[in-house]
Amino acid sequence: MAKFVGIDLGTTFSAAATVDLDGSPVIVRDSEGNNIIPSCVVIDGDSIEVGTHAFDIWTNSPDLGASRFKRIMGSRDKTLSLGGREFTPTELSTFVLRKIVKEVESQIGKIEEAVVTIPANFAHEAREATMLAAKKAGLNIKNIINEPTAAALYYAYKTGVELDGIYAVFDFGGGTFDVSIIQANGKNVEVLSSDGVSKLGGDDFDRVIRDILKEKYSMQTGDTISDSDISLNQAEKAKKHLTIKESTKQIVKGKSIEITRGEFESKIMSLLTQVEMLCESALEDAKIQPSQLKGVFLAGGSTRVPAVKKTVEKVFQKEVTTTANVDEVVALGAAIYSTYRANREKLSQGQRESVEKIRISETTSKCFGVISIAMNTARDEATVSNSTLIAKGTKIPCSLTQTFYTTHEGQTGVDCIVTESTTIESDPKFVKVIWEGRLELPPGRPEGQQIDVTFSYDDNQIMHCSFVDIATGNKATVDLTLVPGSSFDDTKIDKFFVE
Ligand code: ADP
Ligand code: MG
Repeated sequence: MAKFVGIDLGTTFSAAATVDLDGSPVIVRDSEGNNIIPSCVVIDGDSIEVGTHAFDIWTNSPDLGASRFKRIMGSRDKTLSLGGREFTPTELSTFVLRKIVKEVESQIGKIEEAVVTIPANFAHEAREATMLAAKKAGLNIKNIINEPTAAALYYAYKTGVELDGIYAVFDFGGGTFDVSIIQANGKNVEVLSSDGVSKLGGDDFDRVIRDILKEKYSMQTGDTISDSDISLNQAEKAKKHLTIKESTKQIVKGKSIEITRGEFESKIMSLLTQVEMLCESALEDAKIQPSQLKGVFLAGGSTRVPAVKKTVEKVFQKEVTTTANVDEVVALGAAIYSTYRANREKLSQGQRESVEKIRISETTSKCFGVISIAMNTARDEATVSNSTLIAKGTKIPCSLTQTFYTTHEGQTGVDCIVTESTTIESDPKFVKVIWEGRLELPPGRPEGQQIDVTFSYDDNQIMHCSFVDIATGNKATVDLTLVPGSSFDDTKIDKFFVE
């Protein structure tokens, strides 16, 4: 029977899951029995270590390894040095995925298809880089899913309570924070809004703990110590201890230092305020009051921190009870999604029945636009501006067309520039160019020729862009694809053509 797998490629930890023949989502543990493995890579000579063992080496010899590279995923010019060699975040993610593939296949056999998860607020390049890493790791990958959506799908799927209403999904991990507001009815999940930041998570709490320990050490001894005297590993352990205890004692350079939960909480207040503001903004985007929420679903290891739970309860005005393992829900949801997107003929009866009633609808988490030139004829001035075609929060699939005109007589081409931004922006300084091409036009025409620009965002999160010269039908198109396969290309520029 074909195996369909969901992989939560996390900033700090990764997990894999599948849907068994009876139709139940299950975590696939690694050969050591771990349900999650650190997303950590170590290069030692010619050997590549990934996971738990790599993490142990990395904490003692940081120069040999890397972790948290998901935070810079998609930044082409950024590399990390491991054992004296440079690697891109995509290559490092490929190593993590290869390890997962190997572990999963040794447990359940060949993977037919996989879905990898990404944070909801991942930019286009980061999404593409993730797909590329999955492809390079040998996965047959046709879909990706936003992490909070995967978590929501798992909760919607969990037997027990039939979902019916509006819910918040709060995903707080080691390196990223995501919040989504969803409408769920049975197994139908519609994402109403998403917000988040890719540089806020439990890692920041670890650094706070280290700072407190350093400060207290100085107070007690009169000596100052540096960051390297306290490993982040020790700080993380202290943080986890404070999840279950009111205080923890840590040995720092032979001295015993006590930290209370209260001290920790007062120092993470500003981080929690950021979390609160993002939740408020997600509610606002979805036009929802906290009183309209039926419940809150949690994902991510940092939701175990008592002050984080209190923040969730305050902002959503709901008591939160954890009904699932927050380390696993994203991978489990991705496994369900992978099965749902599979060719039904390849599924067992149990699998088929369990994904039968699922329906998912997403919204865009960014704005997409084009750069155009606006002429002010009175002043004979041209201003370059960005026009948003697809605004953040638009329901997928969607298609929008806007008409532009050539600016001068005899114009023989149009620069086609596709942009991405987090808010609607007219100033090109505040947008990111995600693709550039050119539409050639015949010579000798007057100004004001109509050019229609259409952006269509499909279910697989591929954006098809077309720039059409209406008079001749000349067309420049590009598929800004997140999905490999027939249309996927590492050098997406090849996709550009003029008919
Ligand atoms: P990511 O999705 O970013 O990979 P995870 O969801 O796996 O992250 O969460 C990892 C984070 O959760 C780490 O910062 C870890 O320290 C934190 N964490 C896990 N368990 C606990 C706990 N019991 N108390 C406090 N923090 C925890
Ligand atoms: Mg996560």
